[in-house]
Amino acid sequence: MATKEDFYKLLNVDRNASDAEIKKSYRSMAMKFHPDRNADNPEAAEVKFKQIKEAYEVLSDPKKRSAYDQFGHAGVDQSMGGRPGGEGFSDIFGDVFGDIFGGGGRQRSNVQRGSDLRYNLELSLEEAVAGTETKIRIPVLVSCGECKGSGAKKGSSPVICTTCHGHGQVRMQQGFFSVQQACPTCHGTGKQIKDPCGVCHGQGRVQENKTLSAKIPAGVDTGDRIRLAGEGEAGERGGPSGDLYIEIRVKEHAIFTRDGANLYCEVPISFSTACLGDGIQVPTLDGEVKLTIPPETQTGKSFRLRGKGVKQVRGGAVGDLLCKVRIETPVQLTKEQKALIEKLNESLSSGGKQHSPQEHTWIDGVKNFFDKLTG
Ligand SMILES: [Zn+2]
Ligand SMILES: [Zn+2]
Repeated sequence: MATKEDFYKLLNVDRNASDAEIKKSYRSMAMKFHPDRNADNPEAAEVKFKQIKEAYEVLSDPKKRSAYDQFGHAGVDQSMGGRPGGEGFSDIFGDVFGDIFGGGGRQRSNVQRGSDLRYNLELSLEEAVAGTETKIRIPVLVSCGECKGSGAKKGSSPVICTTCHGHGQVRMQQGFFSVQQACPTCHGTGKQIKDPCGVCHGQGRVQENKTLSAKIPAGVDTGDRIRLAGEGEAGERGGPSGDLYIEIRVKEHAIFTRDGANLYCEVPISFSTACLGDGIQVPTLDGEVKLTIPPETQTGKSFRLRGKGVKQVRGGAVGDLLCKVRIETPVQLTKEQKALIEKLNESLSSGGKQHSPQEHTWIDGVKNFFDKLTG
């Protein structure tokens, strides 16, 4: 194996170049070795391009870059995973130029990739947290079985387009300029169907209902998308299929609300529990657990149950459940009960102790408010 060229030299940057400088240089180098600009020697351009791409993959990744700085090529060759050499020129250009020219790279191909599809899936909170397996039924354009997706009648095959001679592109004169356009006869495919398939009428695709089984991982949340590669629409005339994206929406829950890894709920407690303290049962996603309410608990206080939240799909620690207590004022009081509460109230106001922890701050606040208004 020939010794490798220095990655910094390949990208024409300093050893202390910033990420932005590296990216900028990479883009201009990648364009320089675009196949359209190297028609005289495409093989040499391809070799050069692969080297540039490899250099960029290393220098744009902080971990790989520091390994490279420390150990040279030996530091990164293993971590690159010895990618097999079967990668075609158009494949590499597909993703690089998709990035640089905003998707333009794909138009070089004569076959049309099928559209991506989106499927909205509603889940209960329990399903989203635990994960689930679901069957979904989608209407989808699939490759026609009769003509195997070619669009031509069984026994016949598409012929080379006579307008563009199979190039899919034609040159048109517009004033002083000569511009290249998709061939109007074959719409860029380079082929013409003389005898169209009777089932798909030459489209190569037919509408069908497809049932798919999809595994939804534990911890998904509203807005998450799960990609099923190749399960989208079939491409036109044998082109590759698009992908199917399952978009998750989690339904509202009667008890819990979720924010990231944490769950929240409100728990009503009685006046006497709030005053004297007690153990109460609170719901969690995996059954009831006991929560100790300390004496003299105020309404609105939240209690944290560690690890009773959600393990998020992207990993990290399991979240907590936060139970916010709300003190219920007793209703439907009898004469006797009202008398007892009056008696309690008298006792509270005559003991000389401060029994209402927030009253003073509140009264001071009101006083300040009026002082400001008058003064
Ligand atoms: Zn067909
Ligand atoms: Zn044509």
